[in-house]
Amino acid sequence: MEGKILFAYFRGFRNAFSPLSKTIKDIKIYFAEDEKELFEKLSSDKIDILAFSTLINFPTKELLDKIRERFPNIFILGGGPQATGDPENTLSLGFSALLLGECEETFPNFIKEFYGKRNFESIPGLYPYNKHLPQKVDIDKFFFYFENLPYFPPLEISRGCPFGCKFCAVSYIFGTKMRHRSIKNIIEHLNFLVNKGEKIIHFISPNAFAYGGNGKNIEKEALEELLFNLWKFKKEKGVKIYFGSFPSEVRPDFVNKETLKFLKKYTDTKCIVIGAQSGSNRVLEKANRGHTVDDVLKAVEISRKYGFQVKVDFIFGIPGEEAKDREETWRLIEKIIDMKGKINAHIFIPLSGSPWANEKTAILSEEDLERIKRLSNEEILIGNWEKHLKIIERKFIKLI
Ligand code: SF4
Repeated sequence: MEGKILFAYFRGFRNAFSPLSKTIKDIKIYFAEDEKELFEKLSSDKIDILAFSTLINFPTKELLDKIRERFPNIFILGGGPQATGDPENTLSLGFSALLLGECEETFPNFIKEFYGKRNFESIPGLYPYNKHLPQKVDIDKFFFYFENLPYFPPLEISRGCPFGCKFCAVSYIFGTKMRHRSIKNIIEHLNFLVNKGEKIIHFISPNAFAYGGNGKNIEKEALEELLFNLWKFKKEKGVKIYFGSFPSEVRPDFVNKETLKFLKKYTDTKCIVIGAQSGSNRVLEKANRGHTVDDVLKAVEISRKYGFQVKVDFIFGIPGEEAKDREETWRLIEKIIDMKGKINAHIFIPLSGSPWANEKTAILSEEDLERIKRLSNEEILIGNWEKHLKIIERKFIKLI
């Protein structure tokens, strides 16, 4: 079997292809990091399949139209959260087909069928040919990295989440049962990374302190065993290990004396990223967060007590959020700032695949936006809030 596939791994989406790594054999793999490189590679190499990992607003219909116009015979495949959460609309952007759900097993089958009999109906999740989602995979069985990718994303150690927050698609796309990479497998990956020259190790997890269990509680022994092994590895190889910081942030109800002691003893983490999302218990409840404002305050207090810097995630404009809720959020933010914490601000964007996929962003007042901007100028508030505002203004509603 011979063939050529181009992965469009524009910045920000490059993690997406890593789990497919060693599942593809015998075909030549190319990568394009931006639109320019994409067209150069499509023009110079005879590419059969162009693969995108879809996210909200990416790729755009305009880009796919442009590609189709110049390369009418190319097979454009989409995967990722946007495709899985809203296959009908995503397909209509101009894709040839989509691979829904977790693709580690279905992607190599697609490649085999593409270059073989093209029995696409036999592949679960190859939309629109087969609309049944594939089974969830055992992440421990799949090596996470492409050998020839010039960038190695943080290592995914856990997948799935039991909490089912309504603004988030993780539980609905990856399931409510948390699955984990084994410690042995994690260390194998770290050896790979060190051999590739990496000196700083980060991880991907929906909730890093939930490692080892079903995700609902702290599994103290499993967490300590993992962190102890990471510590041994770092001593031996002289690398830095960051855990509980982006993109392996933690829920506030998982931050306590014990988890922080582990973090201090075994890792190089200086700053913990804690998901608060709102300062209103009413909004937290509506969003199905499963923790309270008090949990957030306690998590920040104890983290500061143990000497960690903190960044706390907030989502402004959560559906149903009212002015009085936002006032409570600002009160919580002020308390966090008083404790020398930073704010990581987002604006609610309805995510395909989440229960709130069709909800609208609650309207922010000019005063709220001014406050966000002021804190941002003072570098107390960071995050992608501006990018989110642009997406919302372009795609959904005018905020002011
Ligand atoms: S926001 Fe975090 S805790 Fe909530 S469902 Fe998503 S991953 Fe789980």
